[in-house]
Amino acid sequence: MDAGSVTFPRRPTRQIKVGSVAIGGGAPISVQSMTITKTADVEGTLQQVYALAAAGCDIVRCTCNEVEAAEGLARIVPRSPVPIVADVHNQYRMALAALDAGVEGLRLNPGNIRRPEHIKAVATEARDRGVPIRIGVNGGSLDPELYARYGGVTPEAMVESALVELRYFDEVGFDLVKFSVKASNVPLMIEAYRQLADATDHPLHLGVTEAGPPPVGLLKATAGMATLLAEGIGDTIRYSLTADPVEEARAGRQLLEAMGLRERKNVDLIACPSCGRAEVDVIAVAQQALAAFGDREIPLQVAVMGCVVNGPGEARDADLGIAAGNKRGHLFVKGVNVAVVPEEEMVPTLVEWAELIMEHGIEAALQRANSSKATKEAEADRRRLLAAQGDDANHSEQRVELVRQRLHR
Ligand code: SF4
Repeated sequence: MDAGSVTFPRRPTRQIKVGSVAIGGGAPISVQSMTITKTADVEGTLQQVYALAAAGCDIVRCTCNEVEAAEGLARIVPRSPVPIVADVHNQYRMALAALDAGVEGLRLNPGNIRRPEHIKAVATEARDRGVPIRIGVNGGSLDPELYARYGGVTPEAMVESALVELRYFDEVGFDLVKFSVKASNVPLMIEAYRQLADATDHPLHLGVTEAGPPPVGLLKATAGMATLLAEGIGDTIRYSLTADPVEEARAGRQLLEAMGLRERKNVDLIACPSCGRAEVDVIAVAQQALAAFGDREIPLQVAVMGCVVNGPGEARDADLGIAAGNKRGHLFVKGVNVAVVPEEEMVPTLVEWAELIMEHGIEAALQRANSSKATKEAEADRRRLLAAQGDDANHSEQRVELVRQRLHR
């Protein structure tokens, strides 16, 4: 079995559509984020929506917490490149106003809008317009009655909150529903989603709420969402980071690409962790390469390796890579050395060859290569490095000698 054929089975769910984006029922897992501008600030919000879409976000949510926000939505929705969902807490009238504004989805928090007649009024309007609703349970704002009955925030209480809301929707014949049961506690969130996945076939929106700033927030959210995605649970995802929302969108996209759940859009940069053999500052070169590729749509795996001794071999499956040696960069395509360039040209050369591969394909790149010359030069640099460093690239034996001298003193 090759690496590309390892996949995660997806849990079968019914499908809903948020505007043009299908969720569940085998549709690609979508990435969501939320604007942090005032929704009344139409131009500022649209700028953020466009930045999110460019970073790979499929659906954007904006808060609808006041009249001016609802009016802003009416102006934002027709100009947005992606479907807009209104986030509503407490005031059911804001949900109705958001529907009037033309939003393509609603998020309701059952912990905050609790009167059945209000819930049903919103569901009826959404039904008549064919607009889906996310029942978004949040551990931090669980219905107080459920909190008291379950003795705190438990997976069972969160799932019950979601299903009680669904019953109100059922009463008015509305079923364009997806769920979320987010918590900031990762094990709690994982268990709540597992129980919900057993209880319903509606699509699920995954997230670890209030995950915090990166890198810890990224780790928490990834731990929760990746665990569930590997079990086939989850139809759309959101990273809730205390950061520029563009980081949320990028992280969402990258998580799905890393798990093979979405087609690659941008470069997959792999790099060795560096070690005593490194002939170049791998961290700096990898960062420069990341910056040079940016959000460009070059869906290749590109490797940055610290030495020509091990680099080309270890990254032989990468489409393209470069390994340092003897103040030079040894470029390789699918493990075949194709060119040797001065060290300072490593990153621009990577970009140039990536563009060549995108335009003409791997075979054309290999044909362009002067491989026998490049291979000979790579081999010469590899031998030179081995001769210089031997098997003790990290100078361990010198340290062992120092330790011995100290202990025998
Ligand atoms: S590729 Fe070379 S420098 Fe990088 S970790 Fe491996 S041996 Fe060390």
